[in-house]
Amino acid sequence: MKVYLPKNSKTDWTAQRHRIKIPTFNFVRLKEFGYIPVNAVVINGTLSIKAGRVFLSLLCDIPEPKIERAVTPGVGIDLGIKNFAALSNGNIYPNINKTSKVKRQEKKLKRESRALARKQNAKKKAGKTVESGSNIIKNTLRVQKLHYRIGNIREEYRHSVVNAVVKTKPQHITVEDLNVRGMVKNRHLAKAVTDQGFYAFKLFLLAQCRKQGVELRQVSMFYPSSKTCSNCGAVKKHLSLSERTYKCNSCGLEIDRDLNAAYNLRDANQYTILT
Ligand SMILES: [Zn+2]
Repeated sequence: MKVYLPKNSKTDWTAQRHRIKIPTFNFVRLKEFGYIPVNAVVINGTLSIKAGRVFLSLLCDIPEPKIERAVTPGVGIDLGIKNFAALSNGNIYPNINKTSKVKRQEKKLKRESRALARKQNAKKKAGKTVESGSNIIKNTLRVQKLHYRIGNIREEYRHSVVNAVVKTKPQHITVEDLNVRGMVKNRHLAKAVTDQGFYAFKLFLLAQCRKQGVELRQVSMFYPSSKTCSNCGAVKKHLSLSERTYKCNSCGLEIDRDLNAAYNLRDANQYTILT
């Protein structure tokens, strides 16, 4: 037996935790507490009896849960050599190129590259073409594979850093406009800087921010993010690269250098929006 019961008045089908108001039947106790969501708007229902038991099936309109944008504050990201990225939320990502994982591969690459060059030189001296010979071809492949492997490790790392921060949906993300070209000219830093892949990092960050609707801000390279005290705003005249701790002469703040820069980037109020 089945009874179809539409909704005739507003108070018909009032669902509560333990009971439901069925038109013409009034309140009926429910077997399963909380089975029907209290915020559900019942459109109609069908009562049926099967083997001496009464079943109630309902057509409900359940309001979509409001997707609340997680309101996490803005994040400043300071990119560097010692640490790849220092975030104002306290996360610090070390330079992966200093880990044994990458160093081991780099060492292998160096060895294979040297071996390849040696083989090629020997061919040259013998007056033969450099690319010929199965050993040279095999060695070339080993070098290519190592480049590929190292590149993958770095790329994966950049992606993991970007995804971790964008996932929290901060109000904004602020990065510095890095003068990578200028840094590369400094031959002591050149390899370290290119190995970090800042440009690729920013490209991926931009793409992910656009995808997730996070505002990406960029401050000018002249903004003194490292030299400014994130507590009182005093600006130091000199700050050498070896000073890992920022010590403020005005307010006495002592803080990790990169974290200080990340705070300043987060709070910067002059920027261009990249997204
Ligand atoms: Zn200060």
